[in-house]
Amino acid sequence: MRANSHRERVYRTRAIILKRREQGEADRVITIFTPEFGKRVIIAKGVRKPTSRKAGHLEPFTHATLMLARGKTWDIVTSAQTISSFRALREDLDLTAYAYYFSELLDAFVQEEDPHPELYDLLLDAFHYLEQSPNPALTARWYELSLLKLAGFSPQLFQCVRCGQHLQPETNYFSLEHGGALCPRHGEGEAEAQPLSLNALKVLRYIQSQPYAHIIRLQLTPGTMRQLEKLLGDYLRFLLERRLKSKTFIHLLRR
Ligand SMILES: [Zn+2]
Repeated sequence: MRANSHRERVYRTRAIILKRREQGEADRVITIFTPEFGKRVIIAKGVRKPTSRKAGHLEPFTHATLMLARGKTWDIVTSAQTISSFRALREDLDLTAYAYYFSELLDAFVQEEDPHPELYDLLLDAFHYLEQSPNPALTARWYELSLLKLAGFSPQLFQCVRCGQHLQPETNYFSLEHGGALCPRHGEGEAEAQPLSLNALKVLRYIQSQPYAHIIRLQLTPGTMRQLEKLLGDYLRFLLERRLKSKTFIHLLRR
C-alpha cells in the first residue's frame, strides 16, 4: 500500500507498544509492532520529563497512531495518539503479566522489518479478549496456538508425524522435535516425546480449529489446564531455543 512511506522523512503508522527501556536522561527506546513495517525500534525523546505529552500514549500494550521522523539510529516519535489504552490490562497484575507474555512471545517470533499484518491483528484481538476473559489461562492457550499457526509451526494433532497413521482414541505422545503427535508405537521409543492424554489431544484440536467465542466457554479441569500449559510451553521454548541457540537464551516463559 505505502511500501515506500518509511523512506519519507516523516511518516505515520499504527503501532502496538511491545516493550521499552530507558535511554539517556529523559528518553525511551521503544519496540513497536506495526501492520506495515512489522517490528521496529524507535526512540521517544524527552518522554520521561513530567511535561511530556507523548508519555501516556507510549505505555506497554497501548495501541496508538504515531508520527515518526527518520533518524540515524532509530526513527523518532514526533507525536502519539492513543487508539486503545487497554487500561484493564494495566489495572490487574495477573492480566498485566499475561499481556507482557503475549507481547514478549510475539517479539521473540518476529524479526525487525518483517511485516505480518495477521500477527498484528492477532495481538490486538488477544488484548481485547484478555480484558474481558473469564479464563485468562485459556485465552493464553488460544493465543499460543494461533501464533504458532500464523508463524508456520502449528502442531500436527491428527496423524502420527512419523508413520502418518490417523491417531486412535488412546494415550498418544507429543514430540517437540517433530512438532506434533506420535502414535504409541512411535512415541514409546522416542526419548524426548511426552505422553499426550486423549483429553488433552481433544482440547488442543478444539482450540486449534474453533472460533474463540466457543473456546472460551470450555470448562476444563485444573489438571487439563496444567497439561496444556506445560505442553505448549515446552513446545514454544523448544522452537525459540532452536532459533536463538546462537544468541543469548531469553527466559521467555518465566512464570
Ligand atoms: Zn506412528
